[in-house]
Amino acid sequence: MKCRKCQNKASIHMRQHKLALCKEHYLEWIPEQTEKFIKKYQMFTHEENILVAVSGGKDSLSLWDILVRLGYKADGVYLGLGIDEDINYSHESQRLCEKFAAEKNLKLHVVDIEKEYGQSIPMLAQSSHRGYGKPCAVCGLAKRHEMNRVARDLGYDVLATGHNLDDEAAVLFGNTLSWASEFLLRQGPVLPEKNGLARKVKPLCRFYEREMTAYALLSGIEYIYEECPFAEGSKSIFYKETLNQLETVRPGAKLIFYLGFLEARKSGELFIEKNVEAGVLHDCPKCGQPTSTPDFCSFCRMIEKANVEA
Ligand code: SF4
Ligand code: ZN
Repeated sequence: MKCRKCQNKASIHMRQHKLALCKEHYLEWIPEQTEKFIKKYQMFTHEENILVAVSGGKDSLSLWDILVRLGYKADGVYLGLGIDEDINYSHESQRLCEKFAAEKNLKLHVVDIEKEYGQSIPMLAQSSHRGYGKPCAVCGLAKRHEMNRVARDLGYDVLATGHNLDDEAAVLFGNTLSWASEFLLRQGPVLPEKNGLARKVKPLCRFYEREMTAYALLSGIEYIYEECPFAEGSKSIFYKETLNQLETVRPGAKLIFYLGFLEARKSGELFIEKNVEAGVLHDCPKCGQPTSTPDFCSFCRMIEKANVEA
């Protein structure tokens, strides 16, 4: 297979795009495409300050790399979850984020949940009813809360995450199976700033996972290969595997599924937006972030409960 642009040997063949590229042209193609998506969905401009949520994985580090290559003002934020039981997952992912930032002379903010609040994610999961044995609900809540806090406190215009097409298609698949209209309406490449919540964007949402893996490997980014140990057996992995089977017989199926959804939503074919107008939000008396109850927000309640029990 030859590169479409230079006829040298291709390093990657993307069946769904009927496109094969050599290493050099692939490393140009991905940032070019990303720039197109940023413009198409009006994610941010070159004047704005971007905060990239990095986990040490291939997607978020690649995103940071691409944005910097494209000349955007992008700093990183790493959230230490304290998940270090078996494979030193948090420790190693933090090391790789710090290494990446140091090598490229980029600014990385590090927030350690345990240092900040006295409780790691596994400890919080134990004392919370949200856990049901797995810390993912607690972890998701803490990530949303802390990323928003850092973006807001440090005056960033937008928070960017490295979700790829496989992630987005799996979430969409799960939400479609239960027709979770509230979640479906919030899913998209851009979530505008609202009621004290920072604007959130996903510039990689149209790239397949394997395209991001290829980008990270070909550009020599060192990233953590292991998944979080708690990801094993999760629903989202099962949905990804199911969609992969579909993709094998119908190349492009994931992309069609996701883009078709975005189109239908935009044209208003799917849902009536007014049904999900958010209720009145209050400021949490403790952290100042928006919450639907007049009391502490769910994150602050969770921390308080855990610290009382400790
Ligand atoms: Fe957090 Fe790990 Fe669950 Fe992901 S899999 S939500 S990182 S605990
Ligand atoms: Zn709060």
